[in-house]
Amino acid sequence: MKAVVLSTVDNLALADVKKPKPGSKECLVKVLACGICGTDRHIYHGEYPSAKPVILGHEFGGVIEEVGPGSKFQVGQVVSVDPNIVCGKCLDCKEGRTAFCPDLTALGVNINGGLAEYVLTPDSQIYPVRNDLNPLHLAFIEPLACSIRGLDLANLKGGEKVAILGGGVIGLLVVQLAKLAGASEIVLVTRQKFRRDVALKIGATRVIDPINENVDTAITNMDVTFECAGSVETFKQSQKITRRGGSVIVLGLTASDATLEVNPFNIVVNELRIQGSFLNPLTQARAAELVESGKLNLDILISKVVDLSGVKAILDAPPAEGDIKYIACP
Ligand code: NAP
Repeated sequence: MKAVVLSTVDNLALADVKKPKPGSKECLVKVLACGICGTDRHIYHGEYPSAKPVILGHEFGGVIEEVGPGSKFQVGQVVSVDPNIVCGKCLDCKEGRTAFCPDLTALGVNINGGLAEYVLTPDSQIYPVRNDLNPLHLAFIEPLACSIRGLDLANLKGGEKVAILGGGVIGLLVVQLAKLAGASEIVLVTRQKFRRDVALKIGATRVIDPINENVDTAITNMDVTFECAGSVETFKQSQKITRRGGSVIVLGLTASDATLEVNPFNIVVNELRIQGSFLNPLTQARAAELVESGKLNLDILISKVVDLSGVKAILDAPPAEGDIKYIACP
């Protein structure tokens, strides 16, 4: 089968590899769509740890081609795959903090993933969806599951004023989730006009261009701010624009060695809650259901669809201006 294989850092190629055979409680999933995300670019260049060689791709779904002994699934079912495999037995897993499982391993990072014609997938990772779902929407379920985790931690009850910093896929999914959660005001801050225009079509009530406006003064008193840009600058802004007693939910990943000065006094007297949100603990099923429901506008986020031979060119270049989501359909 064809697969996008990272053999060493900076060494990525479309290769012919052996089609795997499902073992006990495993399925062979024929990939219908796999998102290409910024993390794949980081893995490619050795900025995010991974196994090597490894087939990349962690945002995918497909149709079950073959089932191993004891699998509870049937050939022909269309499924979403949660790439993050955990033990299910440790205290963190039992208490729902699966992202902290010491045995966490991920399809497309540590073991072969979805930028391939087929993926070997344990039953535990499989979430069936309706067979007539637009296959491209399968690529959104994993990033949506991570975004839903952020919403869970924000604990929106309806009527809140929400700011979102960063208008990539995550920020634009959070815009739509905040709207579904009944936020009264949804302000998106992102530099690209195209993305600001998209945000206004999918639920943002106001958009801010951080190049030409001063974010710290243009937005004040937000109940919840979602940091979805992954920069030190936006992390700092998020604290300034959030009201006393409000919450900052940090989804964006900065470089692992980035640091900044904080003012502990302000955090205390403002009772500011700064809350990290990592991966998709127990949110993949809800994400799959929400995508199935058709309540999200996902088509507007799709910039380009390629086959496996087009993946390397996408990962070799920075995302083009105006582009949001790239998807590979093997
Ligand atoms: P992305 O496409 O890179 O989106 C982030 C966007 O933020 C950028 O494209 C950029 O858009 C905007 N941005 C950058 N600097 C900004 C600034 N100073 N002010 C305002 N906007 C700024 O990435 P994504 O896929 O949406 O993911 C967002 C972040 O979440 C990334 O850091 C990613 O690594 C992380 N992530 C975290 C999780 C988790 O579980 N916590 C899961 C998935 C992804 P403009 O060019 O329009 O400004």
